[in-house]
Amino acid sequence: MEFESVIGLEVHAQLKTNTKIFCSCSTEFGAPPNTHVCPVCLGMPGVLPVLNRKVVDYALRMALATHCKIQRESRFARKNYFYPDLPKGYQISQYELPIARNGRLDISVADGTRRIGINRIHMEEDAGKLVHDPDRPVSRVDLNRTGVPLMEIVSEPDIRTAEEAGAYLRQLRAIIRYLGIGDGNMEEGSFRCDANISIMPKGSTVFGIRAELKNLNSFKHVEKAIQYEIQRQKEVILDGGQVAQETRLWNPDRNLTTSMRSKEEAHDYRYFPDPDLLPLVIDDDWIDAVRAVLPELPAEKRSRFQTEYGLPAMDADVLTANRELADFFEDCVRIFPQPKAVSNWVMGPLLGLLNARNLGIEASPVSAEHLADLLTLVDEGTISGKIAKTVFDKMADTGKPPKKIVEEKGLVQVSDAGALEAEVDAVLAANPDEVAAYKGGKKKLMGFFVGQVMKATRGKANPRLVNEILGKKLDG
Ligand code: ADP
Ligand code: MG
Ligand code: ZN
Repeated sequence: MEFESVIGLEVHAQLKTNTKIFCSCSTEFGAPPNTHVCPVCLGMPGVLPVLNRKVVDYALRMALATHCKIQRESRFARKNYFYPDLPKGYQISQYELPIARNGRLDISVADGTRRIGINRIHMEEDAGKLVHDPDRPVSRVDLNRTGVPLMEIVSEPDIRTAEEAGAYLRQLRAIIRYLGIGDGNMEEGSFRCDANISIMPKGSTVFGIRAELKNLNSFKHVEKAIQYEIQRQKEVILDGGQVAQETRLWNPDRNLTTSMRSKEEAHDYRYFPDPDLLPLVIDDDWIDAVRAVLPELPAEKRSRFQTEYGLPAMDADVLTANRELADFFEDCVRIFPQPKAVSNWVMGPLLGLLNARNLGIEASPVSAEHLADLLTLVDEGTISGKIAKTVFDKMADTGKPPKKIVEEKGLVQVSDAGALEAEVDAVLAANPDEVAAYKGGKKKLMGFFVGQVMKATRGKANPRLVNEILGKKLDG
């Protein structure tokens, strides 16, 4: 029996505002426990929340970027449950009336693009954090995170494979970062994902019962957990059993999911509109103002890089993965207008260097200007392409401009025909057997001679001239 899997993702992204969603406490990460708290986020009696306008701005940016329909009137509700990290005993969250609905996100997959529906985007507050003592049976609570703004993005159950789930999350994260509204860091918890998974017989239109996976804190874990869960559900069904509707926990040490609790239903939370907060009304002016500050988004940039610079799709994909890298590329092309050559250097040596040193492009030891200067030196024939890599490595180590390195190390390409002829003569004199073999028809030896001359000049000989001179001497 063949199965098809159905996946829907719920993503919580922390919004990068200076202050919390309903009070003016700082959202700064890493402060001593319980220093960024006030009566509002501690849920003291008699206090009133005030909505942070910036949070709405950011949610609107995301809604517009994902082609959602913005609801002119939305509401905040109370989601009631008891847990020690939730001082009020309820979380303020949008429920029946979220800020935006019915959007979409196109993702690239092996055979083209897939369109994933976005069911809703809503705003809510984060809870605090429990810190468990490793030595004693004691837990402490840090409420600095209580009230930090979150945006929840709920997909339609349109995702079919673990790879698609990964592509969707990466695309979502890229948009959040382009918009400058969040860090999108899964390991640090500013971008969290719950995955709903079910399976059904291939071709069926009736979805199976889903399990919801939690504790997925890296892209790798999301994909592995989904793959595991699909396989587990298949085995349950093939054994004649039924998948339970439940919440399951991914265990990254054992690479499996375990049951955590049976799935709660919405009515368990006793949602009701928060009487302390007015309905949120959004007018055209507000939407227009947000639309006016939207940057070029990843998908637009990707297609522009292909049309404007004539780059292959693969290059455009890599270069637009984040805004800073795309800017670096464009800065470089502005000085050295040969896009494919720049792309090759950025995707090859530069990204190689950054990966090896675990750096982001913003911390690159080689600036866009210096990389462009290096390519100019090659283009003008001042240095050979081979030496360029040596110069690049030196630039990476010292941060010096390429011209300076070339001068200091005496790496200028030898294009003096007289000097090169002497080198060629020396090589031919030192290899009489090869010369005889070449003249006897072993033309492949040309590469050997060129190599010897390059070696003798430590890579500085102009290869085009060396070939010319060798040709004249051996064939002419
Ligand atoms: P909740 O998890 O709070 O009950 P929803 O009912 O809105 O929330 O659904 C959450 C997610 O589950 C959505 O992303 C949705 O696409 C997905 N989903 C719903 N039904 C299924 C299903 N049968 N299989 C897989 N995913 C599903
Ligand atoms: Mg859920
Ligand atoms: Zn506060």
